[in-house]
Amino acid sequence: MSDLLTLKAQANESAERRGHKLAWSGPYHGESRSVEYAECERCEAFVSVSTRPMPNEIDVGGSAVAINCEHTTESKVAS
Ligand SMILES: [Zn+2]
Repeated sequence: MSDLLTLKAQANESAERRGHKLAWSGPYHGESRSVEYAECERCEAFVSVSTRPMPNEIDVGGSAVAINCEHTTESKVAS
């Protein structure tokens, strides 16, 4: 199980590679897991991280780590 800071670092790295600039909402610490959400400052993309994802979730997920930012002209990702 990864801690929240590690997951956030992974999310930031993946999102930045796609041109996003994430703004984090602040962590939420539940009874069994910690979660945090972020949205891109330039587009509508989002990402969520969870220290204990549900069976249908992944620990780092969201459009910000899946698609490139709409508001960047240079793509650093070879597709
Ligand atoms: Zn973006």
